[in-house]
Amino acid sequence: MKIKDYFHDKNLAFQSLQKTSQNSELKACIVTCADPRLSPEIIFNSPIGELAVIRNAGALLNENVFESLHFLVEGLGLNAVIYLPHKDCKALENAISPQQNFESKTTRNLLKRLKETPCSDAIEEYAKFGAKEIKKSLSQFQNIEVLAGVYDPHAKSVLWLDEET
Ligand SMILES: [Zn+2]
Repeated sequence: MKIKDYFHDKNLAFQSLQKTSQNSELKACIVTCADPRLSPEIIFNSPIGELAVIRNAGALLNENVFESLHFLVEGLGLNAVIYLPHKDCKALENAISPQQNFESKTTRNLLKRLKETPCSDAIEEYAKFGAKEIKKSLSQFQNIEVLAGVYDPHAKSVLWLDEET
């Protein structure tokens, strides 16, 4: 089957989509990895309209991500962000290889942090540090909540982190 036909058949019709968007309002933006094992709308059982999602391989933070967040805050009234990288992230493993060179200073700082942290805690540290960077980038706005979490694709669970610890 062609990919277009496959997705054409799976495309929900208006009525089903309408049902899932009833009474929903934007609650948070999830910033996460492009990994197919991690689907924020499914993980959080969210209807259409509840979550904004920004994804790239590794959940890297850079100017593009910050610009999107600024737009969501200013244009759509976003007031909560969840930074959610994940365990067993192949994109991050690739990103910290010495051959990679990223333009964004935030990305470089984050990866440096990841490299310097002992393996067992590395992804938690990465998530906490990333959430702080997001908070910094949104510091001009009032009352924006930024949370950090780590998704475990094997346990299929979210570990919530307290960024102050
Ligand atoms: Zn990943």
